[in-house]
Amino acid sequence: MKTIIGNWKMNVGTRESLALARGVLLALRGRKCLPDVVVCPPFMALGEVRKAVARSHVSLGAQNVSAEEQGAFTGEISTRMLSEAGVTHVIVGHSERRRLFGETDETVNGKMIRVLSAGLIPILCIGEDKQVRQEGREREFVASQLRVALHGLPLRHKERIFVAYEPVWAIGTGTAAEPSDAVAMHAWIRSLVTELLPGIKREQFAVLYGGSVDGANAYAFLREDEIDGLLVGGASVKLSEFSKILDAAAEVLEMRS
Ligand code: PEP
Repeated sequence: MKTIIGNWKMNVGTRESLALARGVLLALRGRKCLPDVVVCPPFMALGEVRKAVARSHVSLGAQNVSAEEQGAFTGEISTRMLSEAGVTHVIVGHSERRRLFGETDETVNGKMIRVLSAGLIPILCIGEDKQVRQEGREREFVASQLRVALHGLPLRHKERIFVAYEPVWAIGTGTAAEPSDAVAMHAWIRSLVTELLPGIKREQFAVLYGGSVDGANAYAFLREDEIDGLLVGGASVKLSEFSKILDAAAEVLEMRS
């Protein structure tokens, strides 16, 4: 299976979110093989998008969540609120949250535990910045991010986890990783997840690539077995680009069916 996740960030209001959601549903219509699709609108649009994607192939994701269960945390959104809003997936530790809002590996770990405890599916974002890449320390860096983020997770048999490898130097820059490089990092991440979460089954986790994916390069990532799907930022709010990405996923799935 391939999963395509759209992170709409703070780029669309409720009306635009609704139009985008309807457009995604239209783009999926009539296909034989469909990827799993998750859309992550801004919090304010979750209610409307939920109605639009109800009883469809598209799941609802949130872009962030509090690590706290409930209480005096002004402005925060809890897992319970997200569940009530129909959310099934939550992006955790996006590089923008880490870089701009001071989220540490420890904060990310707290959120991972909270999300899994609430029965939601975390989309854990990891990835090195330009300097780390230039120093050739990317493996060591993502290993340390993973080691902390996955510590003490309440995992039994049913829980699922997405890990999105998103090199920071590729996010929003127009310079995607080379697919062969992403494949090597994914294999590394997969081996680490298996080591850090002993007993986790292959079907319980997926490794996605994110960073300047668009309609032109999506197929080159998706045709790789190591790449279970894509986390898409900028191109996910451009319906024509996102439709091409969905087409690429459908093409790969059709070839394999
Ligand atoms: C992201 O922010 O998760 C992302 C992948 O962004 P973009 O696709 O715009 O690089």
